[in-house]
Amino acid sequence: MRYTRDVPRHLVSIADLDAAEIVRILDHADRFWALADAPVKKLDTLRGRTVINLFFESSTRTRTSFELAAKRLSAEAINVAGSSSSTTKGETLRDTGRNLMAMHPDAIVIRHSYGGAAALLASVVDCAVINAGDGQHEHPTQALLDAATIRRHKGRVDGLEVAIVGDIAHSRVARSNALCLAKLGARVRICAPWTLIPRGIELIGGELTRERVRVTTRLEDGLDGADVVMMLRVQHERFEGEASRFPNTRELSRTFGLSERTLGYAKPDAIVMHPGPINRGVELAPQVADGARAVILSQVSWGVAVRMAVLERAILGAPA
Ligand code: ASP
Repeated sequence: MRYTRDVPRHLVSIADLDAAEIVRILDHADRFWALADAPVKKLDTLRGRTVINLFFESSTRTRTSFELAAKRLSAEAINVAGSSSSTTKGETLRDTGRNLMAMHPDAIVIRHSYGGAAALLASVVDCAVINAGDGQHEHPTQALLDAATIRRHKGRVDGLEVAIVGDIAHSRVARSNALCLAKLGARVRICAPWTLIPRGIELIGGELTRERVRVTTRLEDGLDGADVVMMLRVQHERFEGEASRFPNTRELSRTFGLSERTLGYAKPDAIVMHPGPINRGVELAPQVADGARAVILSQVSWGVAVRMAVLERAILGAPA
C-alpha cells in the first residue's frame, strides 16, 4: 500500500477533523474489517515501530483494542498503567512524556482524567499522540468506531436521527459523538435530565451543531422516530465533590432507562449502541442489551479496525 503524509499526525479531538477526513479514516478502517475473520490476522505495515499505551484511567475495550491494533500491524506495543508509573511519585505529565520520548516511540496513546492531557502531551513530544479519552473532553476513536458501526448497520450516517441518552454532563463519548455525527450529516438529540446536560452542549461545534444538535429532557421525545439510540452510563467516578444530580439510580433508570417498552418510541429498525461498560438494569435493560437490535459488540469489533487505521495513519499516513 502507498501512503500520503498530508494528514495530521496527532488525533486529539474530532473538532480537528472535517467530514472528508473522518470519511477517509472510516474508509481506511474498512480495509481492516475483514481481517478479523481471517485465520491469520497480522499485517506487517508497522513492523519495527513502537506504540506506547499510557493509560492513567481504567479501560478494558480501548486499551485492549489499541494493543491488538498495534500488534495486528506488527508494531511493538508497550502498556504503561498510570497507577504503576512514576506519576504516583510526583512526576509531571510533561516529564513523563519527555522521558518516554527519549526511548523513541512512534506513537503514544494516552488516556487521562484531565481534559487537555492529550493536547499537552502532543506539545512536548515529537511522536504521534492519540487521545484515548481525556477527562470529560473527548474520546475521538470512540466516535470514529461508532460512526463506522452506524455506517455498517444503517448503510449511511447522513440524514439519520441519533439519540444520545444518559449522563451527558460527564461524557467525553457524548461530546465526540455529537461533533462527529453532526459533521457526517446526522441529527443528534441529546436526552437526559437537565442536571446531566452541560449548558451549551448544542454549541460545541458552533453553527453546525447549533443546527444539528437538539436537547430534550423527555425520553419519549428524544427517542421518537430515532434510527440510532446510544445509551450512556452514569459516570459516578466523575461526581466527586459534586452535589447529587438525581435522586437515586432507580429513579433515573425508571425515567431515562432503555427497556423493550421505551425502545418502542424509536423506529422499528432502530439500532441500540453503548460504548461500554454497561450498567445492566440501570441505563439499559438486559433484554435490550442482549437483544437483536443491539450492535454493542459490533462496536467493539469496529474498535480494532478503526484503531488500526488511526495508528497506521498516525505513523505512516493515509492510504494514497
Ligand atoms: N468507555 C467510555 C469512556 O471511557 C464510556 C464510559 O466509561 O462510560 O469514556
